[in-house]
Amino acid sequence: MKLICIGRNYTEHIKELENEKPTDPVIFLKPDTAILLKKQPFFIPDFSDDVHHEVEVLVKINRVGKYIGRKFAHKYYKEISLGMDLTARDLQSQLKAKGLPWEKAKAFDGSAVIGSWLSVDKIKDVNDINFSLKKNEEIVQSGNTSLMLWKIDELIEYVSKYFTLKIGDVIFTGTPAGVGKIFANDKLKGYIEDIEMFSITVK
Ligand code: ZN
Repeated sequence: MKLICIGRNYTEHIKELENEKPTDPVIFLKPDTAILLKKQPFFIPDFSDDVHHEVEVLVKINRVGKYIGRKFAHKYYKEISLGMDLTARDLQSQLKAKGLPWEKAKAFDGSAVIGSWLSVDKIKDVNDINFSLKKNEEIVQSGNTSLMLWKIDELIEYVSKYFTLKIGDVIFTGTPAGVGKIFANDKLKGYIEDIEMFSITVK
């Protein structure tokens, strides 16, 4: 399976990193080895002094598809979750400055946190989901999927032009504003509405 990540999908986050607003979604991949194993702490890797949390709504693909039209995209997922695209921001900035790919900064072991899965039947509208991240009981990021530049179904249409989507693939739909550095002993908890979707300790 693969993890397909969307960058720059919320205007306020584009501003905070002083990035340009893209004309197309920014896409990158993480391998399955990036998934932080269940109930494991996240260890800050020795190659970064500035790992950031990026909380994101996740979509799990449940049918194989290619060139999926946005009208049919809702048939390709039945569960959503919340996760984190943990990012070695210092390394990413160096790579970006040189025009190099981001993988070392974005796809390293443990960089993909995947929370528990929620059936879309339990959600009124996938384009109106409130979500948030608490760091040590303080809310540091919050968003609503209505603020996405490209909504979930549009992302599926776009991504599936380039990559065949397979059962079990997960799309990370981008982070809202409020990304920031994590430190050893931080506790990170993600919520969709009031439901706790993940709880991670940083080491
Ligand atoms: Zn991200």
